Amino acid sequence: MSTQTDAKKVGFISLGCPKALVDSEQILSRLRAEGYEIAATYDDADTVIVNTCGFISPAVEESLQAIGEALDATGRVIVTGCLGERPEQIQERHPKVHAITGSADVDGVMNHIHDLLPPDKNPFTTLLPETEVGVKLTPRHYSYLKIAEGCNHTCSFCIIPKLRGRQVSRDARDILAEAWRLVGTGTKELLVIAQDTSAYGVDIRHRTSHFRGQEIPAHLVDLVTQLGETGAWVRLHYIYPYPHVDKLVELMAAGKILPYLDVPLQHAAPTVLKRMRRPGPSQQLEAIKRWRKICPEIILRSTFIVGFPGESDEDFQALLDFLQEAQLDRVGCFTYSEVQEADATHFEGLVPEEIKQQRYERLMEVQQEISAAKLQARVGRIEEVIIDDYNDEPGQLIGRSKADAPGIDGNVFCVHGELAESEAARAIPAGAVKIGDIVRVLIEDADEYDLYGEVVEIVPWNPNVPKMGHRAGS
Ligand code: SF4
Repeated sequence: MSTQTDAKKVGFISLGCPKALVDSEQILSRLRAEGYEIAATYDDADTVIVNTCGFISPAVEESLQAIGEALDATGRVIVTGCLGERPEQIQERHPKVHAITGSADVDGVMNHIHDLLPPDKNPFTTLLPETEVGVKLTPRHYSYLKIAEGCNHTCSFCIIPKLRGRQVSRDARDILAEAWRLVGTGTKELLVIAQDTSAYGVDIRHRTSHFRGQEIPAHLVDLVTQLGETGAWVRLHYIYPYPHVDKLVELMAAGKILPYLDVPLQHAAPTVLKRMRRPGPSQQLEAIKRWRKICPEIILRSTFIVGFPGESDEDFQALLDFLQEAQLDRVGCFTYSEVQEADATHFEGLVPEEIKQQRYERLMEVQQEISAAKLQARVGRIEEVIIDDYNDEPGQLIGRSKADAPGIDGNVFCVHGELAESEAARAIPAGAVKIGDIVRVLIEDADEYDLYGEVVEIVPWNPNVPKMGHRAGS
């Protein structure tokens, strides 16, 4: 009889954005549910799945290299993800891959795994019923919650709608059931994602679904109101500046969800935005002013592309002026990189790499000053911080405030126990604070990106969920 130690072993490489990470979690959960073991190294793997990214050229190259490495090591590779929507590109470089599927195709991947490694029928090796919380690739205390797949926009630099298709939203009931299960098993922060989160439910005409005695429309305002009821931090990513975003900001002002909005604006010069097929700059600034009026403590994060085809010196200066006026809290910047099959690849006025790089550095310099001043203004405050990791010595911790999303924003480096100076922090013995705890930190110092301080209190965690094991659902 087969035992757990005989389980077929699958290696997994997950590349790309948080949306791809959620797809990886779903595939890994299915593998575990069917009794497969996840191999930690190539040497242990019977076969390898590579979840690829196909967004920009460097990401495509990274994906192709990862496929090559996995093939060299094991000879049996299944490719999935965004680049899987371009099978000819993969086959041209790696004709020996066993199979290729598109993004979010869990069934397709599993069918190919069954071909290569037929599933074990022994019920004792089936580890997880599919309806329970599955494999997470993030720490237990935070989770990405994907509410829709695909995108209905036509930004000229992007091929996501071609790769992932038009938007398909999940019913509110399914999302809420997943959120309550996650919070019931240790998640304290829900990161709400989609390609365009604020368009959630448009494709299904905001149809209602039944959850715990209520009819909940598939609308972001209704959905996040419900998510706030879990008691977890609710953080919104990839928001497009539609008018109804004001209602979300009202929820932030009321303390129902985190006062944090990630709004990728991409540029600020009218001509560049037009060629990018994005909303105009006046809409952006007006929205920012309105949001700050509704919720003065709101943290605004955005990303921008410099060196887009045709971007003149004046256009770039307009972007810098916008940053000065908008005073965004967090900014990410990319130099424009050609994406095969994106409409912008046919645009004239390519900006030389050297100029792109100079503009990138100039933008980051301008934003660093803004960011440093904003962080300096927080010195002296006591803020809630969620602990992500231990630092070098006992009593040293790495966390994030409500203003910091994991992986993209800053950190709060904090100490307690003997390393601390304040009485309150010294009274908390080193080791008393664990990863995933929420604590209050007295902010004592700041630089361009991070904050530094002392833990003065551990915040009790009382989510609104019934005991673990409760099955949420309609
Ligand atoms: S909103 Fe634009 S950039 Fe974002 S996924 Fe859709 S098309 Fe791409």
